[in-house]
Amino acid sequence: MPVSLFDLVRLHAPLRAEIMAVLEGCLDSGRFIQGPAVEKLEAQLATTCGTPFAVGVSSGTDALLAAFMALEVKPGDEIITSTYTFFATAGSIARLGARPVFVDVLDDSFNIDPQAIEAAITPRTVGIVPVHLFGQCADMDAVLEIARRRGLWVVEDAAQSIGAEDRGRRAGSMGAMGILSFFPAKNLGALGDAGAVVTGDAALAGRLKVLREHGSVQRYAHEILGANFRIDALQAGFLSVKLPYLRGWEEGRRRNAAFYHEHLGRLSSLRLPWEAPNKRHVFNQFAVRTPRRDALRATLEARKIGCAVYYPTPLHLQPCFGELGGKPGDCPVAEGMSKDSLALPMDPLLTQDQLALVVSAVQEEMAH
Ligand SMILES: *Cc1c(COP(=O)(O)O)cnc(C)c1O
Repeated sequence: MPVSLFDLVRLHAPLRAEIMAVLEGCLDSGRFIQGPAVEKLEAQLATTCGTPFAVGVSSGTDALLAAFMALEVKPGDEIITSTYTFFATAGSIARLGARPVFVDVLDDSFNIDPQAIEAAITPRTVGIVPVHLFGQCADMDAVLEIARRRGLWVVEDAAQSIGAEDRGRRAGSMGAMGILSFFPAKNLGALGDAGAVVTGDAALAGRLKVLREHGSVQRYAHEILGANFRIDALQAGFLSVKLPYLRGWEEGRRRNAAFYHEHLGRLSSLRLPWEAPNKRHVFNQFAVRTPRRDALRATLEARKIGCAVYYPTPLHLQPCFGELGGKPGDCPVAEGMSKDSLALPMDPLLTQDQLALVVSAVQEEMAH
């Protein structure tokens, strides 16, 4: 493939020796669960996110589940979140018997619409889960103001946005907790599944550490109902090796975005994602929008240029949430995005030749 959506083989190639040293260290120590590798990563993540605490867990999905368990979410609780996100944001709410209440997103940012949040609050609402989609923070001043005024907690789904900023505040550091995913395609990816919760609240951090060990403080004494949410020591070690490169990779992503803007910014039937004032966008995805999305996708695929639709069906229309009563027309902005958005190749190490191939294919298709 001349240009893949992202290329993990190329990304890891220069790190091979450092990665193999982590594996050898694990083999030599015999330590695969918890221990110093996990503690080291947690300290690095806390620094990266500007939070006092970070707790490594098994995935971004389990980070959400553990965060909601730490907040004692119970059946019947309502939690307001975006309909335009990856399934896990809402799946983790529903698995606790709580009700995800889906609201629409803003047309210019793919992120949750604060006015729609306000309108969706009921006496059963306990919290808000803004998602920082594609690498850019939601409008957190508005979300936090609503939460404060209405007595709700905020958990930020920062799975796609480690390193992003809103008025100088790091993604994940603004609510009661922030969740991170280290799925390989995220900006900081493990070599498998892993995740973390970051927080400024010592009590919540302590509770998360108990929850990830089956709710036990001392072995075989179970204080609360927990589960196995632990991160592998091996994955923690791999992530510690990769984390120092994250800022440089973000700059690569931002350079790609600037190139796309320079060469595709004047096409009348194409809308590009942009960085809002006071935000730092880390471009986990570069999703363009066009009424001719399916034609553009076919053209790119024919030229072996990677592209993907995130997301073809908003969550309020997913069959598994059918009994919540969502119907077409409830969230028109998100429904429109599911039909007109297409993610272009976005990888920190894209070459000028690759970028030029993408740009010329898009220009030719949009000239039709
Ligand atoms: C990737 C992702 C998750 C889930 O993370 P996993 O590590 O894959 O479990 C949750 N929310 C969003 C927005 C994501 O993109």
